[in-house]
Amino acid sequence: MPNLKDPSLLRQHAYIDGAWCDADDGATVAVTNPATGETLGLVPHTGALETRRAIEAANAAWPAWRKKSAKERAAILRRWHDLMLENADDLALLMTLEQGKPLAESKGEVAYAASFFEWFGEEAKRISGETLASPWGDRRIVVTKEPVGVCAAITPWNFPSAMITRKVAPALAAGCPIVLKPSELTPFSALALAVLAERAGVPKGVFSVVPGDAKAIGSEMTGNPIVRKLSFTGSTAVGRLLMEQCAPTIKKVSLELGGNASFIVFDDADIDAAVEGAIASKYRNAGQTCVCANRIYVQEGVYDEFARKLVAAVGKLKVGNGADEGVNQGPLIEEKAVRKVEQHIEDAIGKGARLLAGGKRHELGHSFFQPTVLTEVTSDMLVATEETFGPLAPLFRFKTEEEVVNLANATEFGLASYFYARDIGRVWRVAEAIETGMVGVNTGLISTEVAPFGGVKQSGLGREGSTYGMDDYLVVKYICMGGI
Ligand code: ADP
Repeated sequence: MPNLKDPSLLRQHAYIDGAWCDADDGATVAVTNPATGETLGLVPHTGALETRRAIEAANAAWPAWRKKSAKERAAILRRWHDLMLENADDLALLMTLEQGKPLAESKGEVAYAASFFEWFGEEAKRISGETLASPWGDRRIVVTKEPVGVCAAITPWNFPSAMITRKVAPALAAGCPIVLKPSELTPFSALALAVLAERAGVPKGVFSVVPGDAKAIGSEMTGNPIVRKLSFTGSTAVGRLLMEQCAPTIKKVSLELGGNASFIVFDDADIDAAVEGAIASKYRNAGQTCVCANRIYVQEGVYDEFARKLVAAVGKLKVGNGADEGVNQGPLIEEKAVRKVEQHIEDAIGKGARLLAGGKRHELGHSFFQPTVLTEVTSDMLVATEETFGPLAPLFRFKTEEEVVNLANATEFGLASYFYARDIGRVWRVAEAIETGMVGVNTGLISTEVAPFGGVKQSGLGREGSTYGMDDYLVVKYICMGGI
């Protein structure tokens, strides 16, 4: 059992309609620490029936929640934010134990996750409509914004807290209740958030957490006509399936799906800054984020220098149990993830890539993997088209701007991209030509609650964070006022 300052943050129950409960049939699933293989605890394996109860409770709680003033909702979200920060050490430890990321990254994520409650709480007060110029003398046109209704969210394991608050905060701020299914691999961070929701005064039914059977919960969330909106973060394959399942009841959907981020280093770039950005973008969370650089394109004039400096920086990364001091890279989430990295390396080397760093499982065992750098990578290798989701930096060589823009866009994904350049004309041209929802120019880190996060192409629909993120939880109503 983890050594928490407040042990009550570790809950081994589902949270439905303001009550902590077991699965109806008593089934449970174990949650494992990827760094040690130890079982951290058990959570209920809930399914369709428990999810239906949570949805019905949300529907019952909705009228009172939407009637609260924005200021009242904001005050509750503010308290939830403050409680997260007060309990940041415990939340970060729980996250590291179930997910594996270094404690410093977990602390960063807790602060980032909490920021959505603060930001959307403040923004709740600024949800406003419009009066439009009327073509009629005796009628006026008023546009209001209303909460979309009962929402459902399905979230992944790579950001066990932030992917939840990014959905829950705008939902609650807009006046919607929400039912959450966290990843089966990281439910404790979600349940700890529910403990704090209760303490912050979120009314029962407004936020429920159903851990358990992904398919059964997903089918109920998508099939139940009470649910008006589904927000999902995860793989493109599952997103596609959920969108299909939402079609019969025409739900509003927001999807944050896979990426295949390009990271381009032009000849005129500040190479040291580019190396720093590549390390941050590639090796953060052991490469397990959907905005991690997946394909690193380096212009031929600076290729060797960049490769040399990247290898030197990678050599300084400390791999270990994320709970230990000074660790930069924890284990991958599970064995399957390690096999994918190995497959990408083997495929690339088989087709002529060169291994400059890492390449193997780490001596620590379990799912630890060495930070890896490959050079002479080409478009026919798996790493060019598939998201590795691991600590592997493949370096492609290119000659011209036009060539690299075409290469960067040669993917069905379009989430994030990065490039390093100094020429102002090139900066604009490339930023405009890249087909992604987000572009980092001379930076490898772009996420913040104040900016719209989301993708184009098969990377998803909708935006999270910022006022655009609030829009996803609102519907527009046009009122035609006659009889004037
Ligand atoms: P990842 O590869 O990041 O694990 P997934 O898309 O498999 O991505 O998982 C993201 C979330 O989707 C998790 O909460 C997982 O339990 C859930 N999930 C997976 N399959 C389904 C499904 N068929 N229906 C509903 N949710 C699902």
